[in-house]
Amino acid sequence: MTSEVLSATKKTADTQNLRINGERLWDSLMRLAEIGATPKGGVCRLTLTELDRQGRDLVVSWAKEAGLSVEVDQIGNVFMRRAGRDNSLPPIVAGSHIDTQPTGGKFDGNFGVLSALEVIRTLNDYGIETEAPVEMVFWTNEEGSRFVPVMMGSGVFAGIFTLEQAYAATDTAGKTVKDELHKIGYAGPAIPGQHPIGAYFEAHIEQGPILEDQDVSIGVVQAVLGIRWYDCTVTGMESHAGPTPMAMRQDALQVSTRIMQEVIAIAGQFAPHGRGTVGMVQVYPNSRNVVPGSVKFSIDFRNMTDADVDNMDAALKAFIAKVEQESGLSVKLEQVSHYPAAPFHPSCKDAVRRAAQQLGYSHMDIVSGAGHDAVYMSMLAPTGMIFIPCKDGISHNEIEYSSPEQVEKGGNVLLHAMLEKAGVAGRK
Ligand SMILES: [Zn+2]
Repeated sequence: MTSEVLSATKKTADTQNLRINGERLWDSLMRLAEIGATPKGGVCRLTLTELDRQGRDLVVSWAKEAGLSVEVDQIGNVFMRRAGRDNSLPPIVAGSHIDTQPTGGKFDGNFGVLSALEVIRTLNDYGIETEAPVEMVFWTNEEGSRFVPVMMGSGVFAGIFTLEQAYAATDTAGKTVKDELHKIGYAGPAIPGQHPIGAYFEAHIEQGPILEDQDVSIGVVQAVLGIRWYDCTVTGMESHAGPTPMAMRQDALQVSTRIMQEVIAIAGQFAPHGRGTVGMVQVYPNSRNVVPGSVKFSIDFRNMTDADVDNMDAALKAFIAKVEQESGLSVKLEQVSHYPAAPFHPSCKDAVRRAAQQLGYSHMDIVSGAGHDAVYMSMLAPTGMIFIPCKDGISHNEIEYSSPEQVEKGGNVLLHAMLEKAGVAGRK
């Protein structure tokens, strides 16, 4: 073996043994969670508020301490960059969001941003030079609880909505995104979407119960489920609950319940990733002794591929046609939203899986039922997500919790997935 080959082999072996500093990652998570801390142990740091500014300032100050250069774009997305050996290569980016729900937790989003920071701090500790630059990012208004739409910053970046549309969004007090962004000092000069991305990783708590239930440390996320939302209205006729014989009724609720049952049945037919939910029901006139004259309810269908969601849609429409014919009542089905499924890139899924394998962590393929900034990034660049378990699958709740060990493992997987994509140039 020539000495050159030997040293290259050694470098690879070195980085294989590389680990993040789990304690430092945990401390940063706890420190950030102090901003907007709630009495019940959660975090309320709504987007573009004074607390959001404080959270952003803290993360940016950490990034600067780590020697990163900072770029803010016009919708307030913040990219923090560590140069590589070849800076003409597009950066390998990791991040998430730091805004929270009103009754949010310490981990949702924050874990993805701070694990990216911890990866960079670790590279600094060991003087690792990557081939491509490495960046961390936080996106503006992922949660959508103060301003709609959700995933606003990444959506503008990906060209899903225009900057003007996002700027014009108002909160319940009538304040606009544009004004609030300026007020907190995060309306930057960079044009959203013009920042190159070589690959994007997002580490996130699962926000569901599967990993914990299976006692698995790492979820290799395959895709974010596609969604169709509908409003369904069944129209019959109100009549007296006593004098009207059963056979002569036009009971809108009775017909609705048949459709509701079918929503669940269809989800079962398109297992394992099919989801069907009726979450909202309005019965008219909603009186105990009146046969319901009309019922309006919501339907939420999800699945892993657009084809599966389309098939669920077709099955629902066929069933409704049948029910209309049998009952003589009219059923109106109106689609109100549609989000395509976001399959993640094979090279990123492989990088996450290999990292977990190499580290000796239990892992499994999983899908995400919830939306993430990674959905929009997957339209622009090879994208992957890493899930870690959260206690009882609970999220968007002040008691949301992942353990220091779970957080550390997620950080280590992110480190090695990013290194695989960025390439190791050597040690400084
Ligand atoms: Zn999140």
